[in-house]
Amino acid sequence: MNNSDAFHPSAQMVETLERRVKLLLVDDQPINIQALYQVFAADHQVLAATDGHKGLDIAHKQQPDLILLDIVMPGLDGFEVCRRLKQDSSTRDIPVIFLTGSSDSASEEQGLDAGAVDFIAKPFNPKIVKARVKTHVTLKRQSDLLRQWVFLDGLTGIANRRLFDERLATEWGRSRRLGSALSALLIDVDHFKRFNDTMGHQAGDTCLRFIAQALASGLNRPADLVARYGGEEFVCLLPDTDQSGAIHLANALRERVQSELESQSIGSDWPPVTVSIGVGSLRADSMADAAALLREADHNLYRAKQAGRNQVMSGPMLTSSH
Ligand code: GH3
Ligand code: MG
Ligand code: MG
Repeated sequence: MNNSDAFHPSAQMVETLERRVKLLLVDDQPINIQALYQVFAADHQVLAATDGHKGLDIAHKQQPDLILLDIVMPGLDGFEVCRRLKQDSSTRDIPVIFLTGSSDSASEEQGLDAGAVDFIAKPFNPKIVKARVKTHVTLKRQSDLLRQWVFLDGLTGIANRRLFDERLATEWGRSRRLGSALSALLIDVDHFKRFNDTMGHQAGDTCLRFIAQALASGLNRPADLVARYGGEEFVCLLPDTDQSGAIHLANALRERVQSELESQSIGSDWPPVTVSIGVGSLRADSMADAAALLREADHNLYRAKQAGRNQVMSGPMLTSSH
């Protein structure tokens, strides 16, 4: 249980750091694509498209780190391709470098206006193209990491409340539109003040990391999210999950935390660590806003504590008219 202050980067951050650089070449002349391919194929994964529509399609599906884009092409020209990339949130952050035979400053200006980061005239010097691509790929990776960092909890390495709030708004809208189920779990560590008082704050921090890992490994679907909600509270967002599914998962998580912590604490004399969980579930036209889902989960968490802790509670909040 030493090394407890080490920050564990999320799987997504490790992926961002280690993934091979992916370049997309868009040029209507196969000979240009071939020349660029030779420059980059040894170090990078290289994708290619010979027209603007195909380029946009590959950019969406493959999410390259950088796009080298010809300007004069039949059909969609490079300026229009660049504008469309910049209008779409899924491709907006991919840097675009124009490679073009027309080296006048008017088209350079137009290219930068369309959202390109750089402009290279043909015929190009391979070393210069390589160097500029390297610069912009490095900047892109750094900003990807920063964007991910902003949504991570510093203590546990799982998602933070900011990411949860964003995802809740999105999933709420989606479930309302599609009429699909949505549930949330509020998870609070039992008697955690006592744990800190007897074991010390550092052990408390380590304990929170183990709980976060136990919760994260207990979720199975890619759309499920677990976040640190604050202090010793965690929250799960479960799209396409109705109340009975949420209760089932909540009990599995409760048991998982208890058993994982039991095995982690062997040799450190930790007292048993348990959690209480409140379930909130969206039912057809039952709730006015996303916050109501959390209010219901919070209300049920309170009931779980009242009922003696280490348990799951669910059900709608009863209003005074009932
Ligand atoms: P209950 O079962 O009713 O939830 O009791 P509790 O003691 O867990 O509840 P309370 O909300 O009174 O105390 C929460 C404690 O969690 C207080 C604080 O010391 C501890 N805590 C909150 N955040 C952290 C943290 O980041 N690190 C550590 N070590 N402790 C924390
Ligand atoms: Mg609490
Ligand atoms: Mg607590």
